[in-house]
Amino acid sequence: MTDATPELAIGIDIGGTKIAAGLVDTEGRIRVRRETPTEPGEGPAAVIARTAELVRAFDGEVGESLGVGVGVAGLVRARDGVVAQAPNLRWEDVALGPELSAALGGRAVRLDNDANAAAVGEVWAGAARGRAHVIVITLGTGVGGGLILDGSVYRGARSVGAELGHITVDPDGPVCGCGNPGCLEALASGTAVGRIARERLVTAPDVASSLRSGAIEAVTARDVVAAAEAGDAFSKALLGETGVWLGVALASFVNLFNPEAIVIGGGMAAAGDLILAPARREMERRAFTAALEGVEIVLATLGNDAGIVGAAALVLDPKLAGLAFAREARDTPLTPAEAIEALTFHCGSNPNVEDPRWEQGFLSMLRPYKGLRPEVYDHLVQCVRTLLPHLKSAPKLDRRVISSLWGICHLARYWGLHPDGMLRRNGLITEEDQATLERWIEELSYDLMSILDGGEGAEGPLA
Ligand SMILES: [Zn+2]
Repeated sequence: MTDATPELAIGIDIGGTKIAAGLVDTEGRIRVRRETPTEPGEGPAAVIARTAELVRAFDGEVGESLGVGVGVAGLVRARDGVVAQAPNLRWEDVALGPELSAALGGRAVRLDNDANAAAVGEVWAGAARGRAHVIVITLGTGVGGGLILDGSVYRGARSVGAELGHITVDPDGPVCGCGNPGCLEALASGTAVGRIARERLVTAPDVASSLRSGAIEAVTARDVVAAAEAGDAFSKALLGETGVWLGVALASFVNLFNPEAIVIGGGMAAAGDLILAPARREMERRAFTAALEGVEIVLATLGNDAGIVGAAALVLDPKLAGLAFAREARDTPLTPAEAIEALTFHCGSNPNVEDPRWEQGFLSMLRPYKGLRPEVYDHLVQCVRTLLPHLKSAPKLDRRVISSLWGICHLARYWGLHPDGMLRRNGLITEEDQATLERWIEELSYDLMSILDGGEGAEGPLA
C-alpha cells in the first residue's frame, strides 16, 4: 500500500463451511477469488491460520501487503476485532482481528459481522451505491439487516444493533429462532416461507396448489417462488402475505430512519414484485408521507459476493465502514472517574487531576498532532486548555465531553497521526485516512468546546 488511496484490498467472508476471499478493486470488482474449507471443528487457531494462508496467497499476484477486511456471521465487536459469539463456528470471544493481524505480520485487519459487511458492500458498490441513508434487508435462511446512516454503517453501543430481522411484526406470530414470537424472520425468511407453505398444504388439504405435485414435506421457499411465478394462486397468496409482513417492518424503519433507499437481497428477493409490490403497498399505507417521499425499494445486486466486496470496503472506504472505536467511544457511558482513568491510561500521565504534572502530561498528549495542519493543532491546544479547569471539577463532566475527549485520545494514540508516525511509516494509514481523521478531530473538538460553552454539541460525523 502506498500513501495514495489503496486501490485494492482483500475481502474475506468466513462462513460455517467455507472461507471465501477476493481481491477487490475500488470499483467493487472481485479480480481474483479464492476459497478454502472453514473446518470449524479444528478450533479458532486453525481457522485463523487457514485464513492467513488464504490472504498470503494473494501476495504472489499483487506483490504487496494489502489491507484485509473480514465479515463473519455472529456477534462481532468491530471496535476491538473480537468475535463475541459465532454459533456456526462454535466460537466465543475469539480475538480474530488482532490474531489474524499478528499472523500476517501486523497487517491492518478490519472486522465486522457478515450482515454489516453485506450492507456496506451494497452501498459501496451495489444497489445503493453512493447513498448515505440506506436500509439493507437480506431475506435468506434468516433475515439479516444493515443500517447505513449518514454515510456510515451503524452498529450501536455494543456493535450488536441493526438486527432488523428480529423486529416484532406480529406479537402473536410464530416463535422465531431467537425465542421471540412474531419476528420478521419468523414470517418472511426463506425458512419461514417454506415452513408456512408445508403447514398450510397439510392443514387445508382441499386448497388446490401445484405444490401438491411433489412431496409436501420437501416443499421449500424456492418451490413456492417458482410455483407463484408459474401462476399458482396458493403460492402467490403466500408470497403476498410475506410481502405484507415485510411492509409492516419497512414502515417502522422508514419512520425511524427516513432512508433514501431500501435494498432487499437474499434468496427470497428472487420473488421480485410478488413480494415487493405488497411490501411497498403496506409500507405506504403505514408510514409517514413525508418520510416516504423519494424512498426507493431496490433489489440487491451483489448477490453472494456482497460479503466479500463489503469486507474489502471496510478497508477501502473508512468513512462508510465507520471508524467504530471513535463512534463507540462516544456512545459508551463513562463515569468521570472511569474517564480520568482512561485518559490517564491513554495520556500516560498522573491520575491525580490536582497534580500540576497532570496538566503537563495532558498537554503532552497533543504532541502527535504537531504534524497536522496548524489550524487543527491550534484548535486542539485551545480545546485542552478550555477543558482542564472542567477536569478539575470532575462531577461537572458530561458524558459527551468525556467521550469526545476520549475519542480524540484514541485518534492520537492509536492512529499515530503524525506523518512520521508508525502507521504512516508502515503504510497502514493513507493520506485519505489521515484527512478524514483530521476532519473528525476538528469536529470532535468543536463539539467538545460547544458543550463546554453550555451548548448541545455540534452534530459532527460521529454524532
Ligand atoms: Zn427473532
